[in-house]
Amino acid sequence: MKIIAIGRNYAEHIEELKNERPSAPVVFLKPDTALLKNNASFYHPDFSENIHHEVELVLKVCKEGKYIQNQFAYRYFDEIGLGIDFTARDLQDKCKAKGLPWEIAKAFNGSAPIGDFLPVSDFKDLKDINFHLNINGELRQKGNTGMMLFDFGTIIEYVSKFFTLKKGDLIFTGTPAGVGKVNIGDHLEGYIEDKKLLNFEVK
Ligand code: MG
Repeated sequence: MKIIAIGRNYAEHIEELKNERPSAPVVFLKPDTALLKNNASFYHPDFSENIHHEVELVLKVCKEGKYIQNQFAYRYFDEIGLGIDFTARDLQDKCKAKGLPWEIAKAFNGSAPIGDFLPVSDFKDLKDINFHLNINGELRQKGNTGMMLFDFGTIIEYVSKFFTLKKGDLIFTGTPAGVGKVNIGDHLEGYIEDKKLLNFEVK
């Protein structure tokens, strides 16, 4: 399986990192070794002084497809969950400054914790899904799919031109504003609406 991730998909997050607003989705990949499941602890790597949390809605692909049209995109994912796109911001800033790829900053071991998934049929309106992240019981990030620059259908149409989607692939759909550093001992809890789907510690 592969993890496809979208960057710069929420305007206020683009502003907080002083990035440019993209005219097409910004896409990167993480390998399967980035996955962290079952609320396993995240071990803070020693190659970074500034690991940021980015809470994101995650789509689970249920069917193989490429060149998927926007109007049919909903047929290709059947579950929605929550994940953290951990980012070594200090390494990423260095890569960006040199115009180099970001993989070491985004795709390292354990950089993609995922929680439980919910069936798409649980959601009344995919354009109005609320989600948030608490750290040590304090609200740090909250988002709503209505604030995305590129919605689920647009993302799937775009990424499936380049990468054949396969059953079991995951798509991280971008983070809202409020990203920040995690520290050893932090307790992260992620919610879609009022359902807690993600619950783990940084060690
Ligand atoms: Mg992200």
